[in-house]
Amino acid sequence: MNRDMNGDKPNVAFFSFTCCEGCQLAVLSCEKELPDILSLINIVNFREAMTVKSNDYDIAFVEGSISKKEEIKKLRRIRKKAKAVVALGACSTTGGLNCLKNRFPMEEVKTLVYGKDASRYGILDTIPVMPIDSVIKVDYYIHGCPISKKEFLSVLTSLLLGKKPDIPNYPVCVDCKLAGNICVFEKGMHCMGPVIRAGCDAICVTYGTYCWGCRGFVDNPNAQSHEETLKRYGLTVESVMKMFDLYGACKTKGSKG
Ligand code: SF4
Ligand code: SF4
Ligand code: SF4
Repeated sequence: MNRDMNGDKPNVAFFSFTCCEGCQLAVLSCEKELPDILSLINIVNFREAMTVKSNDYDIAFVEGSISKKEEIKKLRRIRKKAKAVVALGACSTTGGLNCLKNRFPMEEVKTLVYGKDASRYGILDTIPVMPIDSVIKVDYYIHGCPISKKEFLSVLTSLLLGKKPDIPNYPVCVDCKLAGNICVFEKGMHCMGPVIRAGCDAICVTYGTYCWGCRGFVDNPNAQSHEETLKRYGLTVESVMKMFDLYGACKTKGSKG
């Protein structure tokens, strides 16, 4: 994505909404690649790394979910300025862990966080959590909590080459088999892997747990096949879907690739 016919480097901005900023940290941890990255782009906004800010950018990486009215306005301003918007991480792509807030009435949430005198703080700007594509059009998605560095670098490279980023649209089970793992169903555990988008090398299974679904569903999950697998192991869809509530409580459209 060249900035103009003179081939100037594109301006790239990173923005953060409601989140832990762990995905921006994952970007910063690309220490080995950063010198090359900086030879190809100008980073003009990155709160976690620099104080300089600019409103002139071509690509906006947006981390975090929307949980305040004021964030909606800011996100719309970003969309107007950027040629391409990339959702960065689960909070942004699906609402992520923040959607747990939506299980409670907003008044109860305010009291839980600010105590029984919450109303004395005036109007607290808090609304049900949304992924960013509930507010604006998103061009590309980088999934995961946190994102994978490898995937971030691959998406950035594609954008700079003017290519459509290649985001996996097959289940985590494929990564899991390639990693040589024994399926956790064989160990009496359950797993979202058959319906969740790959691209993480099935890291959770490799390190002894199971897939919690942080990358969201594949575009066309084979729910029937997953259901049959669950039945074979004496489990139900309901019991497993409860597990997905950790990352899927928003249950909105934000799981696209
Ligand atoms: S997706 Fe996970 S790591 Fe990234 S900002 Fe959200 S909570 Fe943090
Ligand atoms: S169900 Fe889970 S553990 Fe089994 S192969 Fe799929 S991702 Fe791996
Ligand atoms: S295995 Fe599942 S929960 Fe773990 S990183 Fe991959 S998609 Fe996320």
